[in-house]
Amino acid sequence: MIRTCQYRIYPNKKTTKILNYTIELCRQLYNAALTERKEAYRSSQISLNYYSQTKELPATKLENPELNDVYSQVLCDVVKRLDNAYNLFFNRVKSKNRMGKKAGFPRHKSRDNYNSITYPQSGFKLIHKSKSTNKGILQLSKIGDIKTIISREITDGDIKTCTVKRNKIGQWYVDLTVEFPDIVNKPIEDIKEEEIIGVDVGINKLAVLTNGVEVKEIENPKLISKYEKGIKTLQTLLSKSKKHSCNRAKIRKKLAKKQLKLANTLKDSLHKASNEIVKSGNIIVIEDLNVEGMVQNHNLAKSISDGSWNKLMDMCDYKAENAGKYTQFVDPRDTSQLCSRCGAAVKKDLSIRIHNCNNCGLTIDRDLNAALNIRERYMRLAWNSVKMPVDAPTTAYSIEQVGAMKQEDTSS
Ligand SMILES: [Zn+2]
Repeated sequence: MIRTCQYRIYPNKKTTKILNYTIELCRQLYNAALTERKEAYRSSQISLNYYSQTKELPATKLENPELNDVYSQVLCDVVKRLDNAYNLFFNRVKSKNRMGKKAGFPRHKSRDNYNSITYPQSGFKLIHKSKSTNKGILQLSKIGDIKTIISREITDGDIKTCTVKRNKIGQWYVDLTVEFPDIVNKPIEDIKEEEIIGVDVGINKLAVLTNGVEVKEIENPKLISKYEKGIKTLQTLLSKSKKHSCNRAKIRKKLAKKQLKLANTLKDSLHKASNEIVKSGNIIVIEDLNVEGMVQNHNLAKSISDGSWNKLMDMCDYKAENAGKYTQFVDPRDTSQLCSRCGAAVKKDLSIRIHNCNNCGLTIDRDLNAALNIRERYMRLAWNSVKMPVDAPTTAYSIEQVGAMKQEDTSS
């Protein structure tokens, strides 16, 4: 499957100049190649094509040495564009009668309507500086390095072509065509129980996931709490510092730096967590936290984790889609309070880390209990109508087994 990823790029003055110069040379080549085709046909009824015209490129370069400033495959692509324009024209001629439209012959391009160059195969490289930021560099042969904002990283695709273009107001973009491995979505009704993963995201642990049999915990990176403490201290210092003082400016700078570090660390950990989550199953069940009552929060740690939850859900969602898997969202209400085995309400505040049910005697980690509830909530909703026989138990997995595994985990 081929898809196009577009990123904004920020060439500096020098590279902007080179880009504009390159596009202009390409436009001139396009127009010259068009003239050549027309002439060849008029004078001797010869139809030139892509192959005959690219074969002439070395000779054209000798006559026009400035073309050596352009990467040679980019020049080939110019000839290809003309060839495509001819093919479109011939197709239109063929379908003219049906469409009732006049077929327009390929025309010379003015500066206003020639705005891009394409590297059809090589000569370009996209470098993602660090997975935790969206900063990247696009390296273009014969042009230079260009700052790029990688808004969504290309994880398992092969970049095939690279087109750099400018818009009417002088902004620059790169279009990368990316070939992703063909994914055949497993029909949802063919997915087995153990491929359904319940995910509980939280403050103490970033995520706890379970397929009903196994448990996986993803820890919050330790650095996060360190940065959070630092930020709190600096915020207090800032509020106590004198307005417009030198010291205040210094603190503010330090604070901004720390906040950026925290954001980067968080993003990095969310990428790792979402990769891990999507890897572990075919249906990923997460709480739908975009519900009322979870919006504004003035507590720093809490607001960070709220933001992270949304990001983590987003990442799981698109990564699952890219991998041909499914993300399912369920109602988050009371997933931590109800017993995952018997359904009894077991009230507990955030400080209580163990779920201990007086009704059925289940004692497991609180987040695991929530993850099991989340998983089962989906199974009840979807499987009852899709797959499960009417009389089948709603918990098809052995909860004792999960509990036992959990205890082994903590003791080791
Ligand atoms: Zn219970």
